[in-house]
Amino acid sequence: MQSFDVVIAGGGMVGLAVACGLQGSGLRVAVLEHRQPENTPLPALPALRVSAINAASERLLQHIGVWDEIVQLRASAYRAMEVWDRDSFGKIAFHADECGFSHLGHIIENDVIQQALWKKAQMLPEVTLLTPAALKQVAWGENDTFITLEDGQMLTARLVVGADGANSWLRQHADIPLTFWDYHHSALVATIRTELPHQATARQVFHGDGILAFLPFDDPHLCSIVWSVAPEEAERLIHLAPAHFNRELGMVFDMRLGHCQLESERQVFPLTGRYARSFAAHRLALVGDAAHTVHPLAGQGVNLGFMDAAELIAELKRLQRQGKDIGQHLYLRRYERRRKHGAAVMLASMQGFRELFDGVNPAKKLLRDVGLRLADTLPGVKPKLVRQAMGLNDLPDWLS
Ligand SMILES: Cc1cc2nc3c(=O)[nH]c(=O)nc-3n(C[C@H](O)[C@H](O)[C@H](O)COP(=O)(O)OP(=O)(O)OC[C@H]3O[C@@H](n4cnc5c(N)ncnc54)[C@H](O)[C@@H]3O)c2cc1C
Repeated sequence: MQSFDVVIAGGGMVGLAVACGLQGSGLRVAVLEHRQPENTPLPALPALRVSAINAASERLLQHIGVWDEIVQLRASAYRAMEVWDRDSFGKIAFHADECGFSHLGHIIENDVIQQALWKKAQMLPEVTLLTPAALKQVAWGENDTFITLEDGQMLTARLVVGADGANSWLRQHADIPLTFWDYHHSALVATIRTELPHQATARQVFHGDGILAFLPFDDPHLCSIVWSVAPEEAERLIHLAPAHFNRELGMVFDMRLGHCQLESERQVFPLTGRYARSFAAHRLALVGDAAHTVHPLAGQGVNLGFMDAAELIAELKRLQRQGKDIGQHLYLRRYERRRKHGAAVMLASMQGFRELFDGVNPAKKLLRDVGLRLADTLPGVKPKLVRQAMGLNDLPDWLS
C-alpha cells in the first residue's frame, strides 16, 4: 500500500498542471494515467487536437516552469482576431497592439502541452507518475481515501483530484450529479492550407447553421479549423470528397483566405455542455473537463480547466502551510465556490452566444449586427473584451 497526500486521476493537461503546480508544497503527489504521452519527435504537420491558449493559462504554465519547453516544442502566437456574422454583416476585429499586448494568445497542440507537463512532472521528486493505471475502486474513509487500481495496486490519499476528463469515472463513482445538455452541434477539426497568408490572425465566422474558426499556425498558410455544425451536417462534411469539402469550406469562410486545401484527415467530436453539481466533496476535488465542458466557440475549455488548477494549487498550498487537512470538504469549499462561479459564467455566455448566432431570425440578425458593430466601435469596449478573452479579468491572485 503506497501513501500519498494527493492522488490525481488523469494525467491530461489539467491533471498534470495540478501535479506540477504543487512542487515545493511538501505534498506527496501521484498521477494515475491510462496512456503515457509519447516522447517521440513531433510530426511535421501539427496534430489535429489544438487549443487556443490564453494569457492567463500562459502565466500558469510559466509559473509551473513549462512554458519555455512548450514554445520550444511548437506554439504559434496569434496577434489579431476577427469575428463576423455572415447573415447580418456585423463584424468585430481586435489587434494585440491596440490593447498594448504583444499577442492575444497561442495555438498549441494538446499533445505538446501534455508532453511538456509530463516531462516536468517526471523530474519532480515529490511526484510519482503511475502509468498505465486505471481506477478500479475508490472508498472514502474519514481520514483517507483508499484506491485500488485495475492491476491490483493499492494506494491511500488524503485528497483525490478528478482530472479524468468529460466522462470522469471518479465523478460518477462519487455520485456527483451532472447537469448536461446537447449543443446539437458536432465539431469537425482538420488542418488546412490556405491560398492567402493568415497574418497571425484567428478568425471565426457565424454562418447561421454553424460556426467556423480558422486558428493560425506559425506557417503563414497553415490553419487548424474547428467547424461546429449540426451532427448530421458534420457527418456529411466528413465524408465529402476533399475537392468538394475544400470548395464548401472556402465559400462558408467568405474566401477570406482564398482557396482552402485539406492537409489532414478530418475528425468529428459531438459537443455537450456539462456542469458538475459539486466541484468538491469529502476528500475529492474535480478539475477541468471532469467538472465542466463548454462549446469550443470561444476556445475556453482548457483555459477554464487551467484556472481550476491554479485555484486548487493555491488553496492546497495555503492549507498545507497552515497545517490543515487538505481533504476536508469544509476547506475545499472556497475552491469550489470560486471555480463554480467562473465555469457557470462561461457556460451561460457560451449558451447565449450559441442561441444568438443560431438561425436567420430577422430580430436576431439585427441584434447580431448592432451588437457586433457597437462592440467594434464604442470607445473603451474592445480593451475590456480583449482582457476577458485573455482571461485577465479572472486571474487567481498568485498569477496576477
Ligand atoms: C473540437 C474541440 C476544440 C477545442 N478547442 C479548445 C480551445 O481552443 N481552447 C480551449 O481552451 N479548449 C478547447 N477545447 C477543450 C479542451 O480540449 C478540453 O477542455 C481539454 O482537453 C480538457 O483537458 P482535461 O485535462 O480536463 O481532460 P482530458 O484532456 O480529457 O484528460 C483526461 C485524462 O485522463 C485520463 N483518464 C481518463 N479516465 C481515466 C481513468 N479512469 N484512470 C486514469 N486516467 C484516466 C485520459 O487518458 C486523459 O489523459 C476544445 C475541445 C474540442 C472538443
